[in-house]
Amino acid sequence: MDNFLITGGAGFIGSNFVRHLRDQEPGRGIVVLDLLTYAGNRASLAGIDDIDLIVADIRDTDLVRDLLRTRQIDTIVHFAAESHVDRSIEGPDAFIETNVIGTHSLLKAAKAEWLDAGSGRPHKFHNISTDEVFGSLEADDPAFSETTPYAPNSPYSASKASADHLVRAYHHTFGLVTTTTNCSNNYGPYQFPEKLIPLFVIRALHGQKLPIYGDGMNVRDWLHVTDHCRAIEACLQRGVPGETYNVGGGEELPNITVVDKICAAVDAAFEADLRLAERFPASPAAQGRSCAELKSYVTDRKGHDRRYAIDERKARADLGYVPERDFAQGLRETIAWYLANEDWWRPLLPRSPD
Ligand code: NAD
Repeated sequence: MDNFLITGGAGFIGSNFVRHLRDQEPGRGIVVLDLLTYAGNRASLAGIDDIDLIVADIRDTDLVRDLLRTRQIDTIVHFAAESHVDRSIEGPDAFIETNVIGTHSLLKAAKAEWLDAGSGRPHKFHNISTDEVFGSLEADDPAFSETTPYAPNSPYSASKASADHLVRAYHHTFGLVTTTTNCSNNYGPYQFPEKLIPLFVIRALHGQKLPIYGDGMNVRDWLHVTDHCRAIEACLQRGVPGETYNVGGGEELPNITVVDKICAAVDAAFEADLRLAERFPASPAAQGRSCAELKSYVTDRKGHDRRYAIDERKARADLGYVPERDFAQGLRETIAWYLANEDWWRPLLPRSPD
Protein backbone atom coordinates (compact mmCIF):
# COMPACT_ATOMS: atom_id res chain seq x y z
CA MET A 1 0.00 0.00 0.00
CA ASP A 2 1.94 3.01 -1.26
CA ASN A 3 -0.56 5.38 -2.82
CA PHE A 4 -4.11 5.86 -1.58
CA LEU A 5 -7.19 7.26 -3.25
CA ILE A 6 -9.69 8.26 -0.56
CA THR A 7 -13.14 8.98 -1.96
CA GLY A 8 -15.35 11.19 0.21
CA GLY A 9 -12.24 12.19 2.16
CA ALA A 10 -13.63 15.66 2.90
CA GLY A 11 -16.65 14.17 4.71
CA PHE A 12 -16.94 13.13 8.36
CA ILE A 13 -15.40 9.65 8.49
CA GLY A 14 -13.26 10.17 5.39
CA SER A 15 -11.48 13.24 6.81
CA ASN A 16 -10.88 11.47 10.12
CA PHE A 17 -9.43 8.54 8.18
CA VAL A 18 -7.17 10.79 6.08
CA ARG A 19 -5.83 12.33 9.32
CA HIS A 20 -5.36 8.85 10.81
CA LEU A 21 -3.62 7.60 7.67
CA ARG A 22 -1.24 10.56 7.50
CA ASP A 23 -0.31 9.97 11.15
CA GLN A 24 0.25 6.23 10.59
CA GLU A 25 1.83 6.35 7.14
CA PRO A 26 3.84 9.58 6.83
CA GLY A 27 5.49 8.60 3.55
CA ARG A 28 2.45 7.44 1.62
CA GLY A 29 0.77 9.29 -1.24
CA ILE A 30 -2.78 10.41 -0.41
CA VAL A 31 -5.19 11.72 -3.03
CA VAL A 32 -8.65 12.74 -1.80
CA LEU A 33 -11.43 12.61 -4.40
CA ASP A 34 -14.48 14.52 -3.18
CA LEU A 35 -17.25 16.44 -4.92
CA LEU A 36 -17.64 18.76 -1.90
CA THR A 37 -21.40 18.33 -1.70
CA TYR A 38 -23.17 20.00 1.24
CA ALA A 39 -21.55 17.30 3.44
CA GLY A 40 -17.99 17.77 2.17
CA ASN A 41 -15.78 20.46 3.62
CA ARG A 42 -12.23 21.58 2.85
CA ALA A 43 -11.96 22.81 6.43
CA SER A 44 -12.20 19.21 7.66
CA LEU A 45 -8.82 18.55 6.01
CA ALA A 46 -7.11 21.65 7.42
CA GLY A 47 -3.70 21.02 8.93
CA ILE A 48 -3.13 17.62 7.28
CA ASP A 49 0.21 17.73 5.45
CA ASP A 50 0.91 16.60 1.96
CA ILE A 51 -2.44 15.54 0.53
CA ASP A 52 -4.01 16.38 -2.83
CA LEU A 53 -7.71 17.22 -2.89
CA ILE A 54 -9.31 16.60 -6.28
CA VAL A 55 -12.78 18.15 -6.39
CA ALA A 56 -14.68 15.84 -8.73
CA ASP A 57 -17.43 13.26 -8.97
CA ILE A 58 -16.79 9.53 -8.41
CA ARG A 59 -19.18 8.96 -11.34
CA ASP A 60 -16.50 10.40 -13.66
CA THR A 61 -14.97 7.03 -14.57
CA ASP A 62 -12.38 8.48 -16.98
CA LEU A 63 -11.11 10.90 -14.37
CA VAL A 64 -10.83 8.10 -11.80
CA ARG A 65 -8.94 5.93 -14.33
CA ASP A 66 -6.61 8.79 -15.00
CA LEU A 67 -5.93 9.26 -11.27
CA LEU A 68 -5.26 5.55 -10.75
CA ARG A 69 -2.76 5.56 -13.61
CA THR A 70 -0.96 8.88 -13.17
CA ARG A 71 -0.80 8.78 -9.35
CA GLN A 72 0.05 5.07 -9.32
CA ILE A 73 -2.77 4.42 -6.89
CA ASP A 74 -2.78 0.90 -5.43
CA THR A 75 -5.42 1.31 -2.71
CA ILE A 76 -8.89 2.83 -2.89
CA VAL A 77 -10.78 3.46 0.34
CA HIS A 78 -14.30 4.34 -0.70
CA PHE A 79 -16.27 6.58 1.69
CA ALA A 80 -18.03 8.88 -0.81
CA ALA A 81 -21.79 8.63 -0.43
CA GLU A 82 -25.03 10.35 0.25
CA SER A 83 -25.27 9.33 3.89
CA HIS A 84 -28.33 10.80 5.61
CA VAL A 85 -31.40 8.54 5.88
CA ASP A 86 -33.87 11.44 6.25
CA ARG A 87 -32.62 12.97 2.98
CA SER A 88 -33.03 9.60 1.24
CA ILE A 89 -36.70 9.61 2.23
CA GLU A 90 -37.16 13.16 0.91
CA GLY A 91 -35.28 12.49 -2.35
CA PRO A 92 -33.81 9.07 -3.15
CA ASP A 93 -32.37 9.92 -6.59
CA ALA A 94 -29.07 11.35 -5.38
CA PHE A 95 -28.56 8.19 -3.31
CA ILE A 96 -28.92 5.95 -6.35
CA GLU A 97 -26.65 8.22 -8.40
CA THR A 98 -23.79 8.46 -5.92
CA ASN A 99 -24.04 5.27 -3.88
CA VAL A 100 -24.92 2.85 -6.69
CA ILE A 101 -23.80 4.43 -9.99
CA GLY A 102 -20.84 6.13 -8.29
CA THR A 103 -19.60 2.92 -6.66
CA HIS A 104 -19.96 1.10 -9.97
CA SER A 105 -17.99 3.84 -11.71
CA LEU A 106 -15.10 3.33 -9.25
CA LEU A 107 -15.22 -0.44 -9.71
CA LYS A 108 -15.16 -0.06 -13.50
CA ALA A 109 -12.17 2.28 -13.30
CA ALA A 110 -10.34 -0.05 -10.89
CA LYS A 111 -10.98 -3.08 -13.09
CA ALA A 112 -9.89 -1.23 -16.21
CA GLU A 113 -6.61 0.04 -14.73
CA TRP A 114 -5.66 -2.69 -12.27
CA LEU A 115 -6.83 -5.77 -14.17
CA ASP A 116 -7.53 -5.10 -17.88
CA ALA A 117 -4.63 -2.72 -18.55
CA GLY A 118 -2.41 -5.32 -16.91
CA SER A 119 -0.54 -3.05 -14.53
CA GLY A 120 0.19 -6.15 -12.46
CA ARG A 121 0.14 -3.86 -9.45
CA PRO A 122 -1.01 -5.38 -6.15
CA HIS A 123 -4.19 -3.50 -5.36
CA LYS A 124 -7.06 -3.23 -2.92
CA PHE A 125 -10.53 -1.72 -3.12
CA HIS A 126 -11.97 -1.20 0.36
CA ASN A 127 -15.67 -0.40 0.54
CA ILE A 128 -17.18 1.41 3.54
CA SER A 129 -20.69 0.18 4.22
CA THR A 130 -23.24 0.25 7.01
CA ASP A 131 -25.03 -2.11 9.40
CA GLU A 132 -28.30 -0.67 8.03
CA VAL A 133 -28.11 -3.06 5.05
CA PHE A 134 -29.19 -5.87 7.42
CA GLY A 135 -32.55 -4.26 8.23
CA SER A 136 -34.08 -4.05 11.69
CA LEU A 137 -33.81 -6.24 14.81
CA GLU A 138 -36.34 -6.95 17.55
CA ALA A 139 -35.19 -6.49 21.14
CA ASP A 140 -34.25 -10.16 21.63
CA ASP A 141 -32.84 -10.92 18.18
CA PRO A 142 -29.17 -11.85 17.92
CA ALA A 143 -26.90 -9.07 16.63
CA PHE A 144 -26.07 -8.74 12.91
CA SER A 145 -23.28 -11.02 11.78
CA GLU A 146 -21.58 -11.13 8.38
CA THR A 147 -23.96 -13.92 7.34
CA THR A 148 -27.16 -12.08 8.28
CA PRO A 149 -29.22 -11.76 5.07
CA TYR A 150 -29.45 -8.27 3.59
CA ALA A 151 -32.87 -6.65 4.18
CA PRO A 152 -32.47 -2.89 3.68
CA ASN A 153 -35.51 -0.78 4.58
CA SER A 154 -34.69 2.81 3.54
CA PRO A 155 -33.62 4.17 0.16
CA TYR A 156 -30.26 4.95 1.82
CA SER A 157 -29.67 1.41 3.07
CA ALA A 158 -30.97 -0.07 -0.20
CA SER A 159 -28.47 2.01 -2.16
CA LYS A 160 -25.63 0.94 0.15
CA ALA A 161 -26.72 -2.71 -0.15
CA SER A 162 -26.63 -2.36 -3.95
CA ALA A 163 -23.11 -0.96 -3.76
CA ASP A 164 -22.01 -3.85 -1.52
CA HIS A 165 -23.42 -6.38 -4.01
CA LEU A 166 -21.54 -4.72 -6.87
CA VAL A 167 -18.29 -4.82 -4.88
CA ARG A 168 -18.90 -8.51 -4.17
CA ALA A 169 -19.63 -9.19 -7.85
CA TYR A 170 -16.46 -7.46 -9.06
CA HIS A 171 -14.45 -9.68 -6.73
CA HIS A 172 -16.17 -12.92 -7.65
CA THR A 173 -16.50 -12.30 -11.37
CA PHE A 174 -13.36 -10.36 -12.24
CA GLY A 175 -10.97 -11.08 -9.37
CA LEU A 176 -10.75 -7.49 -8.13
CA VAL A 177 -9.20 -7.52 -4.64
CA THR A 178 -11.94 -6.11 -2.44
CA THR A 179 -12.95 -5.93 1.21
CA THR A 180 -16.01 -4.37 2.83
CA THR A 181 -16.64 -3.19 6.38
CA ASN A 182 -20.22 -2.74 7.65
CA CYS A 183 -20.09 -0.35 10.57
CA SER A 184 -22.55 1.03 13.09
CA ASN A 185 -23.38 4.69 13.93
CA ASN A 186 -20.21 6.76 14.02
CA TYR A 187 -19.68 9.84 16.16
CA GLY A 188 -16.77 12.21 16.80
CA PRO A 189 -15.17 15.39 15.42
CA TYR A 190 -16.05 16.84 11.99
CA GLN A 191 -19.52 15.25 11.76
CA PHE A 192 -21.94 17.37 9.74
CA PRO A 193 -24.50 18.95 12.09
CA GLU A 194 -27.51 17.15 10.66
CA LYS A 195 -26.64 13.88 12.44
CA LEU A 196 -27.99 13.21 15.93
CA ILE A 197 -25.06 14.02 18.21
CA PRO A 198 -23.74 17.26 16.66
CA LEU A 199 -27.28 18.40 15.82
CA PHE A 200 -28.49 17.98 19.40
CA VAL A 201 -25.36 19.47 20.95
CA ILE A 202 -25.66 22.60 18.80
CA ARG A 203 -29.41 22.88 19.37
CA ALA A 204 -28.90 22.51 23.13
CA LEU A 205 -26.33 25.31 23.02
CA HIS A 206 -28.92 27.56 21.36
CA GLY A 207 -31.86 26.56 23.54
CA GLN A 208 -33.69 24.93 20.64
CA LYS A 209 -36.00 21.92 20.99
CA LEU A 210 -34.42 18.46 20.69
CA PRO A 211 -36.80 16.53 18.38
CA ILE A 212 -36.88 12.82 19.31
CA TYR A 213 -38.46 10.45 16.81
CA GLY A 214 -41.32 8.21 18.05
CA ASP A 215 -40.88 6.88 21.59
CA GLY A 216 -37.10 7.40 21.55
CA MET A 217 -36.54 3.68 22.06
CA ASN A 218 -34.85 2.95 18.72
CA VAL A 219 -31.54 1.31 19.54
CA ARG A 220 -28.21 1.95 17.80
CA ASP A 221 -24.64 0.83 18.41
CA TRP A 222 -22.27 3.80 18.74
CA LEU A 223 -18.77 3.67 17.30
CA HIS A 224 -16.21 6.41 17.89
CA VAL A 225 -14.76 7.45 14.54
CA THR A 226 -11.17 6.87 15.69
CA ASP A 227 -12.03 3.25 16.52
CA HIS A 228 -13.60 2.95 13.07
CA CYS A 229 -10.40 4.28 11.47
CA ARG A 230 -8.37 1.67 13.37
CA ALA A 231 -10.71 -1.05 12.14
CA ILE A 232 -10.35 0.09 8.51
CA GLU A 233 -6.58 0.15 8.85
CA ALA A 234 -6.65 -3.39 10.31
CA CYS A 235 -8.84 -4.52 7.43
CA LEU A 236 -6.48 -3.01 4.85
CA GLN A 237 -3.60 -4.89 6.46
CA ARG A 238 -5.21 -8.21 7.35
CA GLY A 239 -8.58 -8.41 5.57
CA VAL A 240 -9.04 -11.41 3.27
CA PRO A 241 -9.99 -10.52 -0.33
CA GLY A 242 -13.72 -10.90 -0.95
CA GLU A 243 -14.56 -10.89 2.77
CA THR A 244 -16.79 -8.53 4.74
CA TYR A 245 -16.35 -7.52 8.38
CA ASN A 246 -18.82 -6.00 10.82
CA VAL A 247 -17.41 -3.14 12.91
CA GLY A 248 -19.12 -1.84 16.04
CA GLY A 249 -18.34 0.18 19.13
CA GLY A 250 -19.82 -2.24 21.66
CA GLU A 251 -22.19 0.52 22.86
CA GLU A 252 -25.85 -0.38 22.18
CA LEU A 253 -28.08 2.44 23.42
CA PRO A 254 -31.68 3.64 22.93
CA ASN A 255 -31.80 7.09 21.30
CA ILE A 256 -33.42 8.60 24.38
CA THR A 257 -30.45 7.50 26.50
CA VAL A 258 -28.07 9.13 24.02
CA VAL A 259 -30.10 12.36 24.22
CA ASP A 260 -30.08 12.26 28.04
CA LYS A 261 -26.31 11.75 28.01
CA ILE A 262 -25.85 14.67 25.61
CA CYS A 263 -27.95 16.92 27.85
CA ALA A 264 -26.05 15.86 30.97
CA ALA A 265 -22.68 16.37 29.27
CA VAL A 266 -23.63 19.84 27.96
CA ASP A 267 -24.93 20.80 31.43
CA ALA A 268 -21.64 19.62 32.97
CA ALA A 269 -19.60 21.56 30.40
CA PHE A 270 -21.44 24.79 31.37
CA GLU A 271 -20.87 24.10 35.07
CA ALA A 272 -17.16 23.58 34.44
CA ASP A 273 -16.66 26.65 32.20
CA LEU A 274 -18.59 29.79 33.16
CA ARG A 275 -17.63 31.52 29.86
CA LEU A 276 -20.00 29.17 28.00
CA ALA A 277 -22.98 31.00 29.50
CA GLU A 278 -21.74 34.20 27.79
CA ARG A 279 -21.15 32.45 24.46
CA PHE A 280 -24.49 30.60 24.48
CA PRO A 281 -26.90 32.59 26.67
CA ALA A 282 -30.03 30.93 25.19
CA SER A 283 -29.09 27.49 26.49
CA PRO A 284 -31.00 26.42 29.61
CA ALA A 285 -27.59 25.41 30.99
CA ALA A 286 -26.57 29.10 30.88
CA GLN A 287 -29.28 29.78 33.48
CA GLY A 288 -28.43 26.79 35.66
CA ARG A 289 -31.22 24.61 34.27
CA SER A 290 -30.85 21.30 32.42
CA CYS A 291 -30.90 21.01 28.62
CA ALA A 292 -33.17 18.01 29.21
CA GLU A 293 -36.09 20.50 29.29
CA LEU A 294 -35.60 20.89 25.50
CA LYS A 295 -36.54 17.25 24.77
CA SER A 296 -39.56 17.03 22.49
CA TYR A 297 -41.16 13.92 20.98
CA VAL A 298 -42.09 14.15 17.28
CA THR A 299 -43.77 11.86 14.71
CA ASP A 300 -41.57 8.87 13.96
CA ARG A 301 -39.41 8.68 10.82
CA LYS A 302 -41.10 6.67 8.03
CA GLY A 303 -39.94 3.04 8.11
CA HIS A 304 -37.74 3.73 11.15
CA ASP A 305 -35.66 0.63 11.94
CA ARG A 306 -36.10 -0.38 15.58
CA ARG A 307 -32.75 -1.78 16.52
CA TYR A 308 -29.29 -2.35 15.04
CA ALA A 309 -26.63 -4.37 16.86
CA ILE A 310 -23.26 -5.65 15.72
CA ASP A 311 -21.73 -9.06 16.32
CA GLU A 312 -18.07 -8.17 15.83
CA ARG A 313 -16.46 -11.49 16.69
CA LYS A 314 -15.09 -11.92 13.16
CA ALA A 315 -13.35 -8.53 13.19
CA ARG A 316 -11.90 -9.29 16.61
CA ALA A 317 -10.67 -12.75 15.62
CA ASP A 318 -9.45 -12.10 12.07
CA LEU A 319 -8.42 -8.43 12.14
CA GLY A 320 -7.46 -8.07 15.80
CA TYR A 321 -9.85 -5.11 16.04
CA VAL A 322 -11.23 -4.22 19.49
CA PRO A 323 -13.05 -0.91 20.12
CA GLU A 324 -11.21 1.20 22.69
CA ARG A 325 -13.37 4.26 23.27
CA ASP A 326 -16.16 4.06 25.80
CA PHE A 327 -19.23 6.12 24.88
CA ALA A 328 -19.35 8.36 27.98
CA GLN A 329 -15.77 9.52 27.49
CA GLY A 330 -16.04 9.68 23.70
CA LEU A 331 -19.16 11.82 23.99
CA ARG A 332 -17.52 14.23 26.46
CA GLU A 333 -14.55 14.63 24.12
CA THR A 334 -16.81 15.09 21.10
CA ILE A 335 -18.80 17.81 22.86
CA ALA A 336 -15.53 19.47 23.93
CA TRP A 337 -14.43 19.40 20.27
CA TYR A 338 -17.65 21.10 19.09
CA LEU A 339 -17.30 23.73 21.83
CA ALA A 340 -13.71 24.42 20.77
CA ASN A 341 -14.43 24.43 17.03
CA GLU A 342 -17.37 26.75 16.53
CA ASP A 343 -15.54 28.20 13.49
CA TRP A 344 -15.88 24.80 11.81
CA TRP A 345 -19.61 24.21 12.40
CA ARG A 346 -21.07 27.72 12.47
CA PRO A 347 -20.89 28.19 8.65
CA LEU A 348 -22.63 24.82 8.14
CA LEU A 349 -25.85 25.71 9.93
CA PRO A 350 -28.83 26.23 7.61
CA ARG A 351 -29.47 29.57 9.26
CA SER A 352 -27.96 31.23 12.25
CA PRO A 353 -29.84 30.02 15.35
CA ASP A 354 -31.27 32.90 17.35
P1 NAD B 1 -20.58 12.31 4.90
O1 NAD B 1 -21.93 12.59 4.37
O2 NAD B 1 -20.07 13.09 6.07
O3 NAD B 1 -19.49 12.48 3.74
C1 NAD B 1 -19.69 12.01 2.44
C2 NAD B 1 -18.63 12.64 1.55
O4 NAD B 1 -18.81 12.13 0.22
C3 NAD B 1 -18.73 14.16 1.48
O5 NAD B 1 -17.44 14.73 1.65
C4 NAD B 1 -19.26 14.42 0.07
O6 NAD B 1 -18.81 15.66 -0.48
C5 NAD B 1 -18.69 13.23 -0.69
N1 NAD B 1 -19.45 12.90 -1.89
C6 NAD B 1 -20.80 12.76 -1.99
N2 NAD B 1 -21.14 12.47 -3.27
C7 NAD B 1 -19.98 12.42 -3.98
C8 NAD B 1 -19.68 12.14 -5.35
N3 NAD B 1 -20.65 11.87 -6.23
N4 NAD B 1 -18.39 12.15 -5.74
C9 NAD B 1 -17.40 12.44 -4.84
N5 NAD B 1 -17.64 12.70 -3.53
C10 NAD B 1 -18.91 12.70 -3.11
O7 NAD B 1 -20.57 10.75 5.21
P2 NAD B 1 -19.87 9.94 6.40
O8 NAD B 1 -20.75 9.97 7.58
O9 NAD B 1 -18.46 10.37 6.52
O10 NAD B 1 -19.93 8.47 5.80
C11 NAD B 1 -18.86 7.93 5.03
C12 NAD B 1 -19.23 6.54 4.58
O11 NAD B 1 -19.50 5.72 5.72
C13 NAD B 1 -20.48 6.49 3.72
O12 NAD B 1 -20.29 5.54 2.70
C14 NAD B 1 -21.58 6.04 4.68
O13 NAD B 1 -22.59 5.35 4.00
C15 NAD B 1 -20.78 5.13 5.60
N6 NAD B 1 -21.35 4.99 6.96
C16 NAD B 1 -21.48 6.10 7.76
C17 NAD B 1 -21.97 5.95 9.05
C18 NAD B 1 -22.08 7.11 10.00
O14 NAD B 1 -22.51 6.93 11.13
N7 NAD B 1 -21.71 8.33 9.61
C19 NAD B 1 -22.36 4.68 9.51
C20 NAD B 1 -22.22 3.59 8.65
C21 NAD B 1 -21.69 3.76 7.39
